[in-house]
Amino acid sequence: MMKLLDISKKYGEITHKYPFEPYKVAENFRGKPAYIYDLCIGCAACGVACPSNAITVQLNENKSKLIWEFDCGRCIFCGRCDEVCPTGAIKLSEEFELAVKFDKSAMIQRGELEVQCCSECGKPFSAKRLVKYSLECLSKANLGEKRLEEAKSYVNVCPTCKKTATVANFTAGKEMVIE
Ligand code: SF4
Ligand code: SF4
Repeated sequence: MMKLLDISKKYGEITHKYPFEPYKVAENFRGKPAYIYDLCIGCAACGVACPSNAITVQLNENKSKLIWEFDCGRCIFCGRCDEVCPTGAIKLSEEFELAVKFDKSAMIQRGELEVQCCSECGKPFSAKRLVKYSLECLSKANLGEKRLEEAKSYVNVCPTCKKTATVANFTAGKEMVIE
């Protein structure tokens, strides 16, 4: 007993008064990922990287919007989404009080993004913001005028049409060009 008292005296008070006082989490604490809608370009990198499928990025039923959705109930706070997001639209926060009252849907967060339709087939395939972001990145890349124009011509084209054009041009022995 005396030994315990000695130890307590040496280390002082190490317990916290939480929940009666706010709790300050440690540096680099992995709390709930915070989503900044305005920065999201709908690239889906977070959804691909998320090991627990807590994030999905997909077209809605009538393909009029690209839906970014986060289910906090599935999140394991690994931080992969934060690592891969190219625009800083998702970042681990210090938030840890995540209980909801009887309604699991309160754990779901959504963002709706405008869709981009393919300039060849007209089908929606991406978010408009992603196309704009890609064009900006291409403009900054040191490609040279001809290669830049060629690359830009592919940005508005869906993967299926790109594949078709590539195969057709390859078969014809031409360079990969979208007309
Ligand atoms: S922290 Fe991990 S589990 Fe949670 S949403 Fe991000 S990638 Fe998914
Ligand atoms: S911009 Fe960031 S948050 Fe938005 S879909 Fe891409 S990786 Fe996810």
